[in-house]
This record gives sequence, C-alpha cells and structure tokens, in this order.
Amino acid sequence: MIKIQNLHKSYGNTAILKGIDVEVKDGEVLAIIGPSGSGKSTLLRCLNFLEKAEKGIIEIDGAKVNVEQYTKADVVQLRSKTGMVFQNYNLFKNKNALHNVSEPLRLTKKMPKKQAEQVAYDLLAEVGLKGKELNYPVALSGGQQQRVGIARALALNPYVVLFDEPTSSLDPELVEEVLNVMKDVMKQGRTMIVVTHEMEFAKEVADRVIFMADGYIVEQGTPEELFTNPQNERTKRFLKNYL
Ligand code: ATP
Ligand code: MG
Repeated sequence: MIKIQNLHKSYGNTAILKGIDVEVKDGEVLAIIGPSGSGKSTLLRCLNFLEKAEKGIIEIDGAKVNVEQYTKADVVQLRSKTGMVFQNYNLFKNKNALHNVSEPLRLTKKMPKKQAEQVAYDLLAEVGLKGKELNYPVALSGGQQQRVGIARALALNPYVVLFDEPTSSLDPELVEEVLNVMKDVMKQGRTMIVVTHEMEFAKEVADRVIFMADGYIVEQGTPEELFTNPQNERTKRFLKNYL
C-alpha cells in the first residue's frame, strides 16, 4: 500500500502542499483532479523525490521515508517502487525507443545489454509499438512517444506508476490509444496514481478520485460519489466546467 502522511511542500514562501494525507491500496487506481496550480504535479514529484517535501512521511510498498530525516538508501528504495509518466514524455531524444526503455534496466538493474533489450522489445510490443523499436522520438507520433514513456515506466516493474497528465499534450485523436494502454496497465493489477483532466477516463477506470485545490485534498470518493454527488462547493464549481 501507499501511505502519505501530513505532506508539506513550499516553493520559497509559498505553501503548495499544506498537509496531504492519502492512502492507496495494492492495485488501486487513484485519479487526482483539480484546478491548475493546485499542487497535483508537486504531489507526484514529492512521492519519488523529484522534489523534496519539507515535512511528512511517505510510505510505498514497505519503503518508508520521513522527509525530514532519511538516508540516500531510503530514497533509492522509495524510487525503486515508482515509475513515472510525464506530460511531455521526457524521452531521451538521442536514443531510439528500444534504448529509451532498456536504459533504466541497464543503469539501475545492471542488466546485460541483450537481456535488457529483450525486456524492452517485449514491453514495446505490449504497448503496441512492435516494429517501431528503432525509431527515435522525433520519428514517433505524440501518442507513440507517450507509449514508449509508459513502457519505460514499467521497465523496472515498479509497485506504482505515477501518471502526470499523460494525455494532455496529445492531439485529441491520439488520446484514445494512450488511455487504452493505461487500461491495459490497470488490468495487470498495477497500482496507479493518475493526475488527469480526462474526467471520462477517471469515471471509467478509477477506483477512487481525489479533488485537490489550494494545496489541500478537498474531497474524495468513488467516481460515482464525486462526479454525481459532490459535497463541497469548491468541487461542484470545478466539475461544472467539465461535465
Ligand atoms: P497543472 O494542472 O497546471 O499542471 P498542478 O496542480 O500540477 O497544475 P503544480 O505544478 O503542482 O500544479 O504547481 C503548484 C504551484 O507550485 C503553482 O503555483 C506553481 O507555479 C508552483 N511551482 C511548481 N513548481 C515550482 C518550482 N519549481 N518553483 C517555484 N514554484 C513552483
Ligand atoms: Mg501539473
């Protein structure tokens, strides 16, 4: 499971996360929605220490870190539990699809080249990119690049995959193929946290939805509860713009 307790993060004097508590069960799909600037990306980035929070406890599948007091090894262990998929793909431009996926296996798991490439071939096939292994990012569509991003996030077999608006840079006709790959990931029983503006997707696949605003979790519930019967005025106002 994932257990986040009282997480606080500021940039300068501006508090961005003001005490976030979240629990996620094994295999659960959690969607996070909320207005721009509410701290959704910051929360994801604090979970894998791309950003360092000032206060709080992060526990992912047994790896527990108090952000005020930890060792390098604690962070390495925590990071090994997460894979991240970014809005802008964040692929290595100078590496082909295969090497984008195999690189973390070679660097982090010290896997021999051939074996790492075999794993990468298999993962790329899983995300529907058979035949595109040798393409560089520039020769892939946005949807294809993002599917490489998902394959890369899965390469190290993380406990949880963190998706930060994985489809919001895509042309509408390419969104579906990425959402479909995410549904496949979900079917494998992988724990997922998805920051998204795709309310339909959240409705369809999330087990639970969190609405964040101004650095707080304002409301959470099943998609049914949150989308059809929001309790908080702030949630209602936000959803009005989408539904
Ligand atoms: P969006 O829906 O637009 O992606 P978000 O909910 O993901 O928004 P964050 O990216 O977490 O929001 O940003 C929360 C706040 O923190 C914003 O006001 C942003 O300007 C600020 N912020 C984010 N990163 C930094 C940074 N590196 N330095 C200073 N301020 C930052
Ligand atoms: Mg964001």
